[in-house]
Amino acid sequence: MTIPQRAGLENFPPYRQGKAPRGIDGVTAYKLSANENPYPPLPSVLAAVTAAVPSINLYPEMAAEELTLAIADRWGISPDNVALGAGSVEVASQIIHAVTNPGDSVMFAWRSFEAYPLLATAAGATPQPIPLTADGGHDLVAMAAAVTPRTKVIFVCNPNNPTGTVVGAAEVEAFLQSVPADVVVVLDEAYVHFNTDPGTAVGIEMFRKYRNVAVLHTFSKAYGLAGLRLGYAIAAAELITNLRKVAVPFGVTALAQQAGLASLEAEGELQERIDVLVAERRRMYAALLAAGLPVLPSEANFLWLNTGGQTAALAALFEENALSVRAFADEGIRITIGTAEANDRVLDVARQAAGLLAPLP
Ligand code: PMP
Repeated sequence: MTIPQRAGLENFPPYRQGKAPRGIDGVTAYKLSANENPYPPLPSVLAAVTAAVPSINLYPEMAAEELTLAIADRWGISPDNVALGAGSVEVASQIIHAVTNPGDSVMFAWRSFEAYPLLATAAGATPQPIPLTADGGHDLVAMAAAVTPRTKVIFVCNPNNPTGTVVGAAEVEAFLQSVPADVVVVLDEAYVHFNTDPGTAVGIEMFRKYRNVAVLHTFSKAYGLAGLRLGYAIAAAELITNLRKVAVPFGVTALAQQAGLASLEAEGELQERIDVLVAERRRMYAALLAAGLPVLPSEANFLWLNTGGQTAALAALFEENALSVRAFADEGIRITIGTAEANDRVLDVARQAAGLLAPLP
């Protein structure tokens, strides 16, 4: 007897996690494939998590009231406008489950965060990818024009993973004014802390002005808690109520809740680390450009190399040098900003590559 299976699941692509680097004797390996924070947790965050460990025989408090309140205070909003999840990827899934019916469309730019099409399909919705512009940005005009009566959720990833591009405030406002008010527009700000562009759209400001805007934030990137899984949405209270209904019960652990609270208390210290990573990103961008590599300006904690048909060759070179990067066949390579030592190693390989490969696009 065969095990029953949902139709089409055999064609369902699994989520691909950033690879670990290949070990090479005598060479320090660096994982730069998953946009992780290279710093270990802050001592205060580690202490808060450790203090919660003896109680892991108990279920977490499902409403996570203290953390929800702390996040609401942080942004000057009501706790009724905050929903938590096991990483912002789970919150993104909650949004799709809470808003779409089977066959409705979930729109996003492409290429963008690769979970969007997977989450949409898993929820029974239809992915609606809209190509990025030639310079790796969102084509918000094309996205607005492509909205159909079935389009119920639109993800706008700012800065965009993997290209690092930003959408401007005026552009997003024009977009929000042209999209029907009953479409939920999700501003996914997973990398917002690294975004120093003065003209950028700011999710919380858009949320204050437009009822159909949901903002996604994560503790995984700038706050270095990827392993604990904690993210949240800021949205209209009606949507938040529905997100809580479809959330996986007890998805946010007590350790994650404590780590989140301690991180909000330590924003000054975390900012110092963010500043270092942003400075490293600028250094890397200038050096890669000088080495002749097709690097795009980025406002995130990673850089995108537009290597097209030479992607595999360049990715192999990084791998041979014990550096794991994220390669998208025939498109390009995303490299996470790491410690200064890791970044120097990237630059060494990039300079070799510039000499070895055919002139890059
Ligand atoms: N949004 C974007 C744009 C991302 O790149 C990621 C992580 N790669 C996420 C959301 C999800 O992060 P997390 O679930 O760890 O919060």
